[in-house]
Amino acid sequence: MDLEFTEQEQEFRREARAWLTANVPAERLPSMDTREGFEAHRAWERKLFDARWAVVSWPREYGGREAGLTEWLIFEEEYYRAGAPGRVSQNGIFLFAPTLFEFGTREQQDRYLPAMAAGEEIWVQGWSEPEAGSDLANVRSRAERDEERGGWRLSGQKIWSSRGTWGHRLFGLFRTDPQAQRHRGLTYFMVDLAAEGVTVRPIPQLDGEPGFAEVFLDDVFVPDADVLGGVDEGWKIMIATTGSERGLNLRSPGRFAAPANRLIELYKRDPRPAERDAVVRAWMDADAYRLFTFGTVTKLQAGGAIGADSSINKVFWSEMDVELHATALRLLGEAGELDDGDGGWLDGFLFALGGPIYAGTNEIQRNTIAERILGLPRAK
Ligand SMILES: Cc1cc2nc3c(=O)[nH]c(=O)nc-3n(C[C@H](O)[C@H](O)[C@H](O)COP(=O)(O)OP(=O)(O)OC[C@H]3O[C@@H](n4cnc5c(N)ncnc54)[C@H](O)[C@@H]3O)c2cc1C
Repeated sequence: MDLEFTEQEQEFRREARAWLTANVPAERLPSMDTREGFEAHRAWERKLFDARWAVVSWPREYGGREAGLTEWLIFEEEYYRAGAPGRVSQNGIFLFAPTLFEFGTREQQDRYLPAMAAGEEIWVQGWSEPEAGSDLANVRSRAERDEERGGWRLSGQKIWSSRGTWGHRLFGLFRTDPQAQRHRGLTYFMVDLAAEGVTVRPIPQLDGEPGFAEVFLDDVFVPDADVLGGVDEGWKIMIATTGSERGLNLRSPGRFAAPANRLIELYKRDPRPAERDAVVRAWMDADAYRLFTFGTVTKLQAGGAIGADSSINKVFWSEMDVELHATALRLLGEAGELDDGDGGWLDGFLFALGGPIYAGTNEIQRNTIAERILGLPRAK
């Protein structure tokens, strides 16, 4: 792995930094889990899109720059370094879009990608159900054939949908063949949340904000054009999306490098020797993750794949994030509990607590590491 950036990559960094310096809002936007914040974040997405920074690795025809993975990582570093707003479109752009590029028809890509990139349509991940979280193959929401209208009728319940309260479209798995084995008979659908028969109910998170939701579907019609991949082949397509979620796409190292550097600044302002080791550990972990990711990118560029390694990644970044924010809060003491406290550490901590749960709980990831990487016997 070559740790030097090329002249072209350095130029890309300079260009991104200049644009972000000139355009990142001076004030933090309101939380995207409030109505006002959701709209403010969509407007920010639009601004990024207009300047071709929303989807740097996508083809130009969809608003991207056809940047390579290394440039994408550079952009992310600059993005977080500049303190730019969280991405309200992230489940669409970073989770769903790679799957749509891989399995979608050209017509589906043309229909959905531009609006996603511009922040016009916010996509919601509709996987979890009351009885199907870690055990996703237990999905019970079903889709029944509607020959006459050329599509399907969806019924059931999805839960824990981030951005579900105000999002526009949902991607999720539905059972199309109830007789088939659990992992078979599932189909990947794209659902318009404004369709008749959809009811969305907000679930307040730890911070009380209502952006999280459960989604009820009662005989919702979805045309054949909104089936992604083959009927009854949803499981395989879902696996591709989880690779993005646990592995590279959703958690670029820039996301942790920026708060690790802010943590150092916090410590310097008011050094507390008892926290010194924790601060150094947080910074080293963030940097180790960064180097590991550049290693992964090198491997991918040489034709390799991520595979079960994404489980190691997931455990590492989620535990690191909790520790990093907990250290900051200890440094801040009582001031850390103020909502408008220093740099949003409390918000960051509350969000970090979800990291070991979403994208597949860490218990499940440890099972995967034990069985698929270490070759230990299967858990009972
Ligand atoms: C902040 C946040 C955002 C989320 N966003 C979304 C979203 O946008 N869309 C969506 O679909 N879902 C989302 N989720 C839901 C998330 O994916 C689920 O919470 C997760 O998959 C776990 O499922 P569960 O909550 O049903 O817990 P369960 O699966 O019921 O697990 C409960 C506990 O048992 C443990 N456990 C279960 N099975 C095993 C096993 N075989 N071995 C060892 N331990 C086990 C789990 O690790 C966990 O600790 C989100 C969750 C959070 C916290």
